[in-house]
Amino acid sequence: MYDVVVVGGGPAGAIAAEDLARMGHRVALLERGGRIKPCGGAIPPRLIADFAIPDSQLVARIKTARMISPTGRRVDIPIEGGFVGMVDRKDFDPFLRERAVAAGAEEITGTYQKIDRDGGVTRVLYRDPASGESRALPTRLVIGADGARSQVAQAEVAGGEKTPYVIAYHEIVEAPGPVGDYDPDRCDVVYDGRISPDFYGWVFPHGATASIGMGTGVDGVNLKQATADLRAASGLSDCATLRREGAPIPLKPLSRWDNGRDVVLAGDASGVVAPSSGEGIYYAMVGGRVAAEAAAACLASGRAADLALARKLFMREHKTVFRVLASMQDAYYKSDERRERFVSLCHDVDVQRLTFEAYMNKKLVRARVMAHLKIGLKNLAHLTGLVRPEHV
Ligand SMILES: Cc1cc2nc3c(=O)[nH]c(=O)nc-3n(C[C@H](O)[C@H](O)[C@H](O)COP(=O)(O)OP(=O)(O)OC[C@H]3O[C@@H](n4cnc5c(N)ncnc54)[C@H](O)[C@@H]3O)c2cc1C
Repeated sequence: MYDVVVVGGGPAGAIAAEDLARMGHRVALLERGGRIKPCGGAIPPRLIADFAIPDSQLVARIKTARMISPTGRRVDIPIEGGFVGMVDRKDFDPFLRERAVAAGAEEITGTYQKIDRDGGVTRVLYRDPASGESRALPTRLVIGADGARSQVAQAEVAGGEKTPYVIAYHEIVEAPGPVGDYDPDRCDVVYDGRISPDFYGWVFPHGATASIGMGTGVDGVNLKQATADLRAASGLSDCATLRREGAPIPLKPLSRWDNGRDVVLAGDASGVVAPSSGEGIYYAMVGGRVAAEAAAACLASGRAADLALARKLFMREHKTVFRVLASMQDAYYKSDERRERFVSLCHDVDVQRLTFEAYMNKKLVRARVMAHLKIGLKNLAHLTGLVRPEHV
């Protein structure tokens, strides 16, 4: 009998399993394996610090973010006093799982099928890949960390089947040498309706490789063509393509993360990816951590209501940032005219400082009241069309 079976060994599940094992609980980490998670792999310093990510996992350190507008305007934002880290998910996820195992979790390879409660015992059923047979893991609690389109969420948690998504697609290419416009220390973020009508495109260097991709929630957009156009615009058409892959990114946190009985969700399964940026790794790991805290509280008290702690703890810390980013996406990702204004706004040093502080350290700086006021007024002026996008 396990205390907790964690379904899914991505960043959310691996952290949940590691934390629970460190607390002394009996934990199984069920991962189907066999697929590298499609992901740009950009992580902020707060993640590196909070989750003790060693230098060896960082394949690149990004020092500048370049915002590119529909008319080709470029705004370079220096990342002062730090860097954005890049990880390769093919190595990062196994590293996190190995750390969970070293802490005492038991890793099991298999594909989750369902939760069965016959005879009053909760059992996670999975398909064993070697025999093809169904096996059972009896447990007191289950953490569903099986990613976007989570089967655990869909079957167990009210509203889990209704999460809205954007589809993100990217190509991993061999990084070019130091030619043309490509800079191995710079991330490019492309706001252009021809690349994505409702999200953005990106070029993220990863040392020997680079991730080039885009996301959209609009049906009928040709993701591969948009990525080919992005590669052409960035001078990366001729680089050898190593992988082509896509996956959904959830757009909205679910209003419940637990079933009031024995299941709590974490990470993409609970819908926590930051609006505007699509940043999900940090939030998945925080989600894994708060799910572990909630499960531990529930195991100690015997009260199923304690599972709701996961969402409460997460929202206490991140609700405001999610709200601000959602209104930014609503306001600026609608048309090329708005995108042009958004990139124009990025010229402002205060905007740069505030957005990067929010991204890097996950804090909204409260001290600079005048800066907030100025940005608020600028925002209003742009959205009402009172000012024209500045030209550089
Ligand atoms: C193209 C793309 C680019 C992105 N770029 C970035 C970025 O640069 N930075 C960033 O922060 N975020 C990015 N994201 C988002 C980020 O990848 C996710 O938010 C993050 O991976 C969520 O972690 P997770 O652990 O919740 O889920 P996942 O990483 O999806 O992990 C879920 C795990 O569950 C396993 N699993 C699923 N179903 C089963 C099953 N039935 N049985 C057993 N195991 C199962 C999977 O194999 C997987 O290992 C990107 C997403 C996409 C699609």
